[in-house]
Amino acid sequence: MANAPQSLSILVAASEVVGFAKTGGLADVAGALPVALARRGHRTAAILPLYRGIRTGKQPIAPTEHTLAVPVGDRIIPCRLWQSTFPDSDVPVYLVENSDYFERDDPSQGRGIYQYLDHTGYKRDYPDSAERYIFFCRAVMEAIAVLGYPLDILHANDWQTGLLPVYLKELYRYRPAYQKIRSLFTIHNIAYQGTFKPDVYPLLGLDWRLFNHRQMEFWGQVNFLKSGIIFADWVNTVSPTYAQEIQTPYYGCGLEGVLSERRNRLSGIVNGIDPDLWNPATDPFIPAHYDVESVEIGKPKCKAALQQEFGLPQEPRSPLIGVVARLVDQKGIDIILKAADGMLAKGVQLVVLGEGDPMYHRMLTELAQRFPQQVGLRLKFDEALAHRIEAGADLFLMPSLFEPSGLNQLYSLRFGTVPIVRATGGLFDTISDSTPEQLSAGTATGFRFAGYSAPELTGAIDRALEMYRHHPEQFLQVVRTGMRQDWSWNRSALGYEQLCIRLIEERD
Ligand code: ADP
Repeated sequence: MANAPQSLSILVAASEVVGFAKTGGLADVAGALPVALARRGHRTAAILPLYRGIRTGKQPIAPTEHTLAVPVGDRIIPCRLWQSTFPDSDVPVYLVENSDYFERDDPSQGRGIYQYLDHTGYKRDYPDSAERYIFFCRAVMEAIAVLGYPLDILHANDWQTGLLPVYLKELYRYRPAYQKIRSLFTIHNIAYQGTFKPDVYPLLGLDWRLFNHRQMEFWGQVNFLKSGIIFADWVNTVSPTYAQEIQTPYYGCGLEGVLSERRNRLSGIVNGIDPDLWNPATDPFIPAHYDVESVEIGKPKCKAALQQEFGLPQEPRSPLIGVVARLVDQKGIDIILKAADGMLAKGVQLVVLGEGDPMYHRMLTELAQRFPQQVGLRLKFDEALAHRIEAGADLFLMPSLFEPSGLNQLYSLRFGTVPIVRATGGLFDTISDSTPEQLSAGTATGFRFAGYSAPELTGAIDRALEMYRHHPEQFLQVVRTGMRQDWSWNRSALGYEQLCIRLIEERD
């Protein structure tokens, strides 16, 4: 693989990294990006807390010789740095050990990375969430000094590491080893901000002058995400459109003003997918393999198997629409339900895999009972089935209310399953609508609609059905255009590389 024009050293700090600890998409980014950047010739590493589960995980870990002295409030907390590597690579992963803060994640006792189950069975954040990540951020800052090489970029992610840019500017830039480091802060989901009562402020080790509404204060509280946005040298999000959207009240969750003030240093890069894991030519979960040339032969076999698995009539020309999603408001399940009767009246088959809000479980179950010949439903998390739906469906529905980046539409493109999406966030950036212009340019990959409503969703479905039924050659062209696109991590890493180089060029 071609090396970057300039080799940089980059440390990715996150509260979760796939292969070690994961609750969501942040872990995928923090796991894939360091490896993809290393492949491009950069010196990279990741750092996260040493949660209990990591000790018994697949990746072996070992203590380093480094003990850090971590200031938290007026205490100095000693902690050891541990080390591992990413699977099948020599890219280091550093782990910050502190059993009081991090060794709680025992699911059998109702304890997770961020939350625990209280005695009524309700999930609650740990009461010392702020202190845990204040400690982690200070430990990361101390760990930089023992890495053994100069760091160019400190990449913080989401509220848990939002304090890193603050510490770099306010406390550490006076030390020679930190003077040249530039900070990049990525927002994965603005809905989670890490806001805490001012009581935690003395633990930060920062001057009270920073507790004002232009810096760390937000409606009387300390806001870690806002702090990262204000103090970072650059702010990034997980798609260009999400970067624009969060500057508006509808999407910005109160931080729209702060973000628009920083708009000249705010950008977005769509997350990548693992092209080996999601590859219809080799996927071990699917019943027949195919690629862009053989999709017409392979996909119908996968479709027939999927229809059989869900007990639906094996009609090759009935359009089959797939949905794989967490069943939460964000994913637009309510407008799918509102549009469902009309859609089913047009003779489509609908297969839904997901779990989440019990209200959606009930409503989808009722729909499946009313249309047993047309609706297949599985209310669970099942990775292999997700692959089989991606392979067997003709169309994939993702009408999200908001979608910072989104993965399923990218898996769909790769599997030749034409996405129908709401034009928001990463969905807008990755799916080009089948307009006459895009079709004649050969760039159309799906169907998009703008307004969050059942009629607009229905309009997009109707356009898709019209093409599927009456213009199959054109439909196949859309399928193939999507399958040929590269949404791999290498592509995203190139975006991050360009951003990092820009920051370093400004510095030098
Ligand atoms: P989000 O991160 O908001 O849930 P994305 O589209 O970015 O949405 O990623 C969702 C990921 O979770 C995909 O890998 C998808 O296949 C997977 N997924 C979601 N629900 C299920 C489920 N019930 N079973 C299997 N995989 C699921």
